[in-house]
Amino acid sequence: MFKTREQLENDERLILSPFAVKSGESLGRAHRDKPHAYRTEFQRDRARIIHSAAFRRLDGKTQVFLNGTGDHFRTRLTHTIEVASVSRTVARALGLNEDLAEAIALAHDLGHSPFGHAGEEELDRVMKPFGGFDHNAQSLRVVELIEMKYPGYAGLNLSYEVLEGIRKHDSSHRLPDGSVLHQPSLEAQVADYADEITYYSHDLDDGLDAGLLTVKQLETVPLWDEAVAEAGRTARKLDPLQQRGFVIRCLINAEVEDLVTTSAAAIRKSRVSSVDEVRRCPRRLIGFSAGRRRKNAQLRKFLYRNFYYHAAVAGVHREKTRLLDQVFNAFCENPHLLGRKARKRLEKEGLQRTVADYIAGMTDRFLLKTAAEISTARS
Ligand code: MG
Repeated sequence: MFKTREQLENDERLILSPFAVKSGESLGRAHRDKPHAYRTEFQRDRARIIHSAAFRRLDGKTQVFLNGTGDHFRTRLTHTIEVASVSRTVARALGLNEDLAEAIALAHDLGHSPFGHAGEEELDRVMKPFGGFDHNAQSLRVVELIEMKYPGYAGLNLSYEVLEGIRKHDSSHRLPDGSVLHQPSLEAQVADYADEITYYSHDLDDGLDAGLLTVKQLETVPLWDEAVAEAGRTARKLDPLQQRGFVIRCLINAEVEDLVTTSAAAIRKSRVSSVDEVRRCPRRLIGFSAGRRRKNAQLRKFLYRNFYYHAAVAGVHREKTRLLDQVFNAFCENPHLLGRKARKRLEKEGLQRTVADYIAGMTDRFLLKTAAEISTARS
């Protein structure tokens, strides 16, 4: 015997908090799908995202370091998996729907262009006259329009709740009945903060690993000092080889702990008792304490000043984005060179948007290869 979907949905009603999203109460999908025998709606969403081509390509996209420059630096894919892991931890601790938080986390960066933020800025610059480019909006285009595998429609036909989570910064947030809402679900808010926790910690880790940041520099960052002290309390004799990894572990743990306890208190104080009340709440209920927010801001400032704009990072990106520009122009001049699926969208989406969609989907290496092919064809 296996557990039926109805039983799983019932388990959620019994176990989850009253303000958690229940898969049995999902607001549905744009295209009606027959319910599955033993998978909940959010389990299906998660599977659809993991089995998409855009998800697989995250493996070849830059997080901070150009993809392939180091053997164990984070990529967009490993970043995404870390966000999903933190999301599950926080969601479970707060009695929220883990499957939903995980699905949102797995989809949150699907729209990222190659070459990290430098790539996004460049694509936005060339697309300015045609509506610009933003990776959050692009993630929605990927799951609603660009992925092609299900019969009868374009996109992955994800549930309203996952789309709501991907939309995150869009102010025109509406329920299917048209009513305007202030906030997304708590699961979506959790995935958002998990993203922040994850990049702080792994960017520090990779920056130190690469030798672009030093422990000495970090002594000016209070969060780092606290994590070092905590590591020392937990393990008096720490092998120097384990030091960095264990301090990072302590830092993540402290961030998650603050998020969970602060959010639990805010939820209690707000007295929300349903998802609807969460969505109508004037402010977000998931968040850090004031002290942690301040320290996170200091860390972010430190990372910008010493890491993201470091010549070894930003210089490489600037050079590669020039190629992005060349590839964009080449496809606009020769749209027949676009992939088959992209060419099918040309008429409806317009030339520049189709080219931007195509380039945004590329891995770093595919863009480099395309740029090399274009320059050979021209010479
Ligand atoms: Mg992210």
